[in-house]
Amino acid sequence: MANPDIVIIGSGIGGATIASGLAGSGASILILERGEPLPATPHARSTRSIFVDEHYRPKEMWREAGGAAFNPGNYYYVGGNSKFFGAVLIRYRKEDFSELEHFGGMSPAWPFSYDEFEPWYSKAEQLFRVRGTLGEDPTEPFHSIPYAFKPVPDEPPIARARVELKNLGLHPASLPLGVDIEAWLKDGRTGWDAFPNTGQGKIDAQTGPLTAALKDPNIRLETSAHVDWLETAPDGKTIAAIHYTQNGAQKTLSPKLVILSAGAVNSAVILLRSPSANGKGLANSSDQVGRNFMNHNSCAMLAIDPRRPNDAVYQKTLMLNDYYLSDGKGGKPLGNVQLLGKIDGNMLKANVKRVPKFALDFMASHAVDWYLMCEDLPDPESRIMVDGKDIVMQWRRSNMQSLEGLTKVMRENLRACGYPIVLSRPFDKRTPSHQCGTVKMGNDPATSPLDTFCRAWDHQNLFVVDGGFLPTSAAVNPALSIAAQALRVADHIRKTELSP
Ligand SMILES: Cc1cc2nc3c(=O)[nH]c(=O)nc-3n(C[C@H](O)[C@H](O)[C@H](O)COP(=O)(O)OP(=O)(O)OC[C@H]3O[C@@H](n4cnc5c(N)ncnc54)[C@H](O)[C@@H]3O)c2cc1C
Repeated sequence: MANPDIVIIGSGIGGATIASGLAGSGASILILERGEPLPATPHARSTRSIFVDEHYRPKEMWREAGGAAFNPGNYYYVGGNSKFFGAVLIRYRKEDFSELEHFGGMSPAWPFSYDEFEPWYSKAEQLFRVRGTLGEDPTEPFHSIPYAFKPVPDEPPIARARVELKNLGLHPASLPLGVDIEAWLKDGRTGWDAFPNTGQGKIDAQTGPLTAALKDPNIRLETSAHVDWLETAPDGKTIAAIHYTQNGAQKTLSPKLVILSAGAVNSAVILLRSPSANGKGLANSSDQVGRNFMNHNSCAMLAIDPRRPNDAVYQKTLMLNDYYLSDGKGGKPLGNVQLLGKIDGNMLKANVKRVPKFALDFMASHAVDWYLMCEDLPDPESRIMVDGKDIVMQWRRSNMQSLEGLTKVMRENLRACGYPIVLSRPFDKRTPSHQCGTVKMGNDPATSPLDTFCRAWDHQNLFVVDGGFLPTSAAVNPALSIAAQALRVADHIRKTELSP
């Protein structure tokens, strides 16, 4: 195969979005994706298949440092983890770009401001056709372009929850979502959060930017192409070759530019596995590759009223940021609250095996289900490592006081709204869904592997564009920020690498 100008490794949010940003540039681009497209089968809308039988989970195991092996909820398909995402496409708040003190310590500033980044958020919202409304959320940052589509409507039980929360003096707001609700429900009356998108209902990395990118005849996608390692030129300053395995065959490519977008964990793994003069892997003279792993501290909270059934189908249309910047009493930030997709008995059974299914069905059908999310702070000892063929995760959670505080205040609020039973359960380590920080960007090559345009300080033709570049996790879902930066980096590559 002739060498393309650019190879992008991974077709998830980072990879697909940067491909769309480079479309029409005249560069020949090949996307190498280890997965295959998701097939449309009845499993895709079966909670039993997805949550009990774990039909879509990868066959691989990761290891906890000093602990047991576990099967991670990390998905390898065309479109990456976004095929399963809750489609919440929300901006970090303006304050997240500055230093912000939390109960568990300081969240560092980004190397650029919200105002500099804002136009890229607007472009990403257009690309992912985000549905939303402005003016409801007190923490909402400035938007130069309003949402192009009205928010996904609240179902009646959620419209009622919105009123109940407002009556407490809180500010529930519509979640910004990449969901075409008619298209989603046409394929089955279920929620979309954690369900695979085999149609057009979710605007994920594949149905959004990848489809747009592949309209350019110079851009191609190869699937079942697992990138194993990168090789540098003898001086170590550039990437000379990509080594990958496709259907059992070992292959090599030598493009001019390499864009690594394999996700925060796997991009770090590929860099750490690649040989280097200092033995620490590539892009790693700062010794920060794999470090600062963050994944949000989060829990599910079920507000149950045995007298009031919740017949919502999708549910996931509300958020609450009243505790995002302060605990409500002048104290430090707690986090974001948003609805989960509607829970059913199968989903509960997958987590609480001892309770009989009929009891779980009753509980689920009378619950409004929330997701509480708090910032995980960067810590160099929270890290992804490799040990031979093993991926080792040493996740040191931080700032758990925020999750405790948010759980307490939301339990009180939901009881005050009339739900006599409020149950909560933290998400466990098997769910690295908001993984980020492992290849962070920054202003200083001594402390960050990437510059502010995601170019490796150590290798001028290598960019890393996925959740790994995020210097902080904030307390909102990461995909829109990854996409916005991918568009910003694409623009930078066009100007610095592709202009005549
Ligand atoms: C159940 C679930 C719900 C979520 N809900 C939301 C939400 O509502 N909002 C939100 O913002 N975020 C959500 N997320 C997180 C979101 O999906 C991720 O933040 C986002 O997909 C990360 O983008 P990425 O480019 O870093 O990685 P990914 O999108 O995961 O893409 C990485 C790609 O690289 C490929 N790859 C990996 N290793 C290799 C290799 N060695 N060779 C070749 N290819 C490789 C993978 O197959 C994948 O396609 C959710 C995630 C999950 C799992």
